[in-house]
Amino acid sequence: MNSPRIEVRLDLVEENARALVQRLAIRGITVTGVTKATLGSPEIAGAFLRGGVAALGESRIENVERLRNAGQSAPITMIRSPLISQANRVVASCETSLVTELDTIAALSAAATNQGLVHGITLMVELGDLREGILPTDLAPIAKVALSLPGLKIVGVGTNLACQSGVIPNADNMAELSTIADELERALDIRLDTVSGGNSANLGWALGIGEPGRINNLRLGESILLGRDPLTREPIAGLHLDAFTICAEVIESKVKPSVPWGATGQTAFGVPVSQLDRGITARVLVALGRQDTDPAGLTVEAGFALLGASSDHIVLDAGTDGPSIGSDVCFHPNYSALLGAMTSPFVGKLFQGADS
Ligand SMILES: *Cc1c(COP(=O)(O)O)cnc(C)c1O
Repeated sequence: MNSPRIEVRLDLVEENARALVQRLAIRGITVTGVTKATLGSPEIAGAFLRGGVAALGESRIENVERLRNAGQSAPITMIRSPLISQANRVVASCETSLVTELDTIAALSAAATNQGLVHGITLMVELGDLREGILPTDLAPIAKVALSLPGLKIVGVGTNLACQSGVIPNADNMAELSTIADELERALDIRLDTVSGGNSANLGWALGIGEPGRINNLRLGESILLGRDPLTREPIAGLHLDAFTICAEVIESKVKPSVPWGATGQTAFGVPVSQLDRGITARVLVALGRQDTDPAGLTVEAGFALLGASSDHIVLDAGTDGPSIGSDVCFHPNYSALLGAMTSPFVGKLFQGADS
């Protein structure tokens, strides 16, 4: 078996998707399943869709094209503002884009017109997190120009919180988005199909007791994949936390002192962490490193403590009894480690549980 590898339980991903789709359906909210942390994996997209997501969301055109080449025909939304240089590819492979800039909107219009298509756009509104978004006062003028351009349909408005500044989606900013949708419809005499309230960080609000208002869509990645609320990283009740496991091979297992000797300077990745003297312990080197994943985002299986990591090695304390070399040690990834492993060419992808 490939080492290192990430083992993916597609049945657990599907069950997580279904649980969130069902809970949100009661609130009148559909789910766009975001595949960007998985390099646009066709297998993961399939599990999302079996779980009932209404559409897929991707941030990279290469990943969208991977999905299309694998035969995926579900609607796909480009969730990062399309690059003008990629407008033709975006229009050819995605039904909808989240947009904030008039030049981008004009490029999508030209590309769609050339290809004889109508491309959907969702205007993203800035509600305080200060990543992407049109300031609310600029929305109607931009929407008015977009409305006049051929090859486009304004399908909705949306916002994205909790990514850049950690601004929490709540009753206030979600009510503001609802009002913005109502006002834009009135100002332009149009109907918006979609009001996309945000990402996994919106779940606390969306599954709470407050009124959803006009919000009828969320774009979910991390919560489906890892079963956690990104605002707190606490488990979401009833969801699987273990759909992904990273395993790698032990290449050294020796009993050594726990404290280094000799004068010390910086390491390859900065200032070394000082080591407690735990006496003589079993020290294990695993063939997994920063080229494969984000070691800081790994939780190691029981019986080991993570001591450090470099480009190609993770160092573990195995207590009194080290595993034999050639055996596997496994880890659970957080979002950053998942993204690293899924996008690293060194990490094999092993999909399991697809026929459940
Ligand atoms: C990444 C992203 C999402 C999904 O975020 P999760 O926290 O993984 O649910 C949704 N919308 C946008 C614009 C994104 O960039």
